[in-house]
Amino acid sequence: MNGLETQQWQHLQEVLRQDYAALLAQLADETLHTAALRRPLPHEVQASPSDNASQRNFEAQHVEAAAHTLQQLQSVRHALAKFAEASYGLCETCGEAIGYSRLQARPDARLCIVCQTRAEQLGRGRAA
Ligand SMILES: [Zn+2]
Repeated sequence: MNGLETQQWQHLQEVLRQDYAALLAQLADETLHTAALRRPLPHEVQASPSDNASQRNFEAQHVEAAAHTLQQLQSVRHALAKFAEASYGLCETCGEAIGYSRLQARPDARLCIVCQTRAEQLGRGRAA
């Protein structure tokens, strides 16, 4: 059991579907911007090295934003796939119910709060 009522389950699925559509549109927009930036402009030939550097920096920010959106998109898609398997709402590590209040805040949450906290602590440990 995932501890969710049918109505809560349906609500979260709807939220995720809307998130998915919004992220898809956002990614398309960001990809378009990035592609436009990559197109060489005539004035770039005369650009000073510092202009080129800031242009690259600007482009990198867009690529980063698009990569972040893609990551979110994959996370939401993963959550939506779990509805089909009826495993949505269950922690992927311990199998316990994640809980409705946590899912409301993070509909694409994969772990319960206990496992999430532990994973974050491990992550910090590795980074330090
Ligand atoms: Zn867990």
